[in-house]
Amino acid sequence: MRRPFICGNWKMNKDRESALSLVRGILLGITPELGERVDIGVAPPFVYLPIVSAVIEGTPVKLSAQDVFWEKEGAFTGEVSPYMLKDLGCTYCIVGHSERRIYFGETDEHVNKKVKALLEACITPIVCVGEKLEEREEGRVFEVVSQQVKGALNSVEISSGEELVIAYEPVWAIGTGKVATPEIAQEVHSYIRSLLKETIGDVAEKVRILYGGSVKPDNIAGLIEQPDIDGALVGGASLKAESFCEIIKVAGGM
Ligand code: PEP
Repeated sequence: MRRPFICGNWKMNKDRESALSLVRGILLGITPELGERVDIGVAPPFVYLPIVSAVIEGTPVKLSAQDVFWEKEGAFTGEVSPYMLKDLGCTYCIVGHSERRIYFGETDEHVNKKVKALLEACITPIVCVGEKLEEREEGRVFEVVSQQVKGALNSVEISSGEELVIAYEPVWAIGTGKVATPEIAQEVHSYIRSLLKETIGDVAEKVRILYGGSVKPDNIAGLIEQPDIDGALVGGASLKAESFCEIIKVAGGM
């Protein structure tokens, strides 16, 4: 019912040449049939969005940014607006990634403003939520995730549900090699789905909820077969075309 979505978050990696060779490698690994079965996104650093955009034009691979500022234009040195991202061909934009929350002080209020601004520019936000290790150990997973989801969606109008993606990324699993078991992830995904039902109603069934945190070709199968896991936000394993394409193939049942 919900088409799987696999998005690669390149973070602050690659240079001009290696960004181009990565995206070309991904295109070589994707058959048209796979492109029909799975939605595919890549999120390069801002500066490489234009060159990657030119290579993927007309292909099943869609462009995502890793962040955005909520204002349309003005004196905001160093920032990038939703309209600039749209201009470059972005379909998606990651917001509230735990690295931005931890290193750059991003709050739920900021995430909420970014979500609203992206939806207004017809860009699908990929809203990242997830607990830290100590919060899990204190038994506060649902409390933390609920605050982040409700904060991100505060007075946001969602019409079809397809214009929103949530990524559950437990902070203890990001870049650590410690993947959440499919059962642990499903428990939180199903909780997020119930929160979405409370907030936006029945269209919650159409919202894709991705899992993120050390996803690799050898662990995606168990995750994707869970009823509320609709794909993955992939960091490390998206930096090589081979592993990224393998994840996409498994998600597409091929
Ligand atoms: C991420 O940062 O979004 C992520 C999931 O990273 P990794 O796959 O490397 O854990």
